[in-house]
Amino acid sequence: MIRRTKILATLGPSTDEPDTLKGILDAGVNVVRINFSHNNEKEHLARIAQIRQYEEENDVFIGLMMDLQGPKIRIASFKSEKIELKKGDQFTLDAGLAEDAGDQKSVGLAYKQLPNDLSMGNTLLLDDGKIILQVEQISGKKIKTRVIQGGLLSNNKGINLRGGGLSASALTAKDKKDIITAAKADADYVAISFPVNADDVRETKRLLAEAGSNASVIAKIERAESLEDDVITDIIQESAGIMVARGDLGVEIGDPQLPAQQKRLILLARANDRFVITATQMLESMIVNPIPTRAEVFDVANAVLDGTDAVMLSAETAVGAYPVKAVKTMSDVCLEAEKSPKAKVSHHRLHEDFEGIDETIAMSSMYAANHLGAKVVATLTQTGKTALWMSRISSNISIFAMSDNYKTLKKVTIYRGVYPCYIEKNSADDWNDVNSKVIENLLSKSVVVDKDIVIVTKGMHKDKSGGTNLMKILRVGDGNY
Ligand code: PEP
Repeated sequence: MIRRTKILATLGPSTDEPDTLKGILDAGVNVVRINFSHNNEKEHLARIAQIRQYEEENDVFIGLMMDLQGPKIRIASFKSEKIELKKGDQFTLDAGLAEDAGDQKSVGLAYKQLPNDLSMGNTLLLDDGKIILQVEQISGKKIKTRVIQGGLLSNNKGINLRGGGLSASALTAKDKKDIITAAKADADYVAISFPVNADDVRETKRLLAEAGSNASVIAKIERAESLEDDVITDIIQESAGIMVARGDLGVEIGDPQLPAQQKRLILLARANDRFVITATQMLESMIVNPIPTRAEVFDVANAVLDGTDAVMLSAETAVGAYPVKAVKTMSDVCLEAEKSPKAKVSHHRLHEDFEGIDETIAMSSMYAANHLGAKVVATLTQTGKTALWMSRISSNISIFAMSDNYKTLKKVTIYRGVYPCYIEKNSADDWNDVNSKVIENLLSKSVVVDKDIVIVTKGMHKDKSGGTNLMKILRVGDGNY
């Protein structure tokens, strides 16, 4: 059985060992994530070169996602590296204090704008919510707070405002530089951190185009204010896909609200014909342990049942002690969850009109495949759009996106249930000939056997995107393609 849910793995020091990198890719990573929050351009490009080499040696497609750091809403540093705050202490965040002058009473801010964004009574969450401060007074550059929940606080920890509303713009000067690196690296996807609204996505697309990149933009949903109905719909429609960035989002809205938001965001993305990644702390305990907790197994399985396209590993692969085991575990859990009848039922577009002929062919072929028991739907595609439409229908039918366009083949690596497959262009525009090639290809990959039914979709003008207007039902072995 081929896994439908895709696995994203973050690269880092733990995957730099060639055997480990090979190990996680062999275990089934579909897309690698380069995190611009760590390392430099040279290190990123070296990691990407290793991925390219693996692709070539193994004749596979691995998607490349590069994740922009976004605004650094962080405290500065302490003279002594860290302090311990106790409940009830007074503690000042001071935008005027020197970078490394923090002590038991106050600390500087990397984000100088913070005093202007706050009002009395606001709750600040430091270090992913481990430390909670209540704002008591703001005078000039000083924010005087009371410690509500204490703990150890060390250099450069992140700051979130409960309920959202910090004005830091999504694209920093570093992000703009990193977009150029992403273009140089020929990234398939660029993820934007903390987008406030669809304008941030538009601006990222503009900068990518200016840098000569055809990467598609993924919006990381991690601000409370981006969850407003009209804002999230706009962001989704402007993006190629979204990431449920549960780390920061959970801190901003509070973890109890997170499961319902995850389900809502997955549904919204799918309903808008966009893909969705569920991210952060999926197998967190595997950073140090060779097996996951049972709750983590449920978390991954539930994301699959919610309909996510992809599940993401962050520190588990980047810095964890068991990166290969983490990928294998995730893969096994996805495969089991996908067997649930719930994972195969779809109401997508059941009561809606289709937008055009190509979408109608995509939807009809999935309907036909489901009801006829077809093994594979093979779609000849220029942009991958038909495959994306098909994969919005939950089913257990494999969708093979067949193209001679390498960029398209890399992009479909993230869509649930879609498998990239290189097919050579026909010199003569011969429909029969293409069908034979499709069947040969599927036979060579052992995804079909004699008598299996394969549904093929294609456009009359095979080089034109949006031209899919044909569906043909074939039986392997009939020879009458
Ligand atoms: C997150 O907050 O869940 C997330 C993926 O963001 P980051 O890249 O900051 O980990």
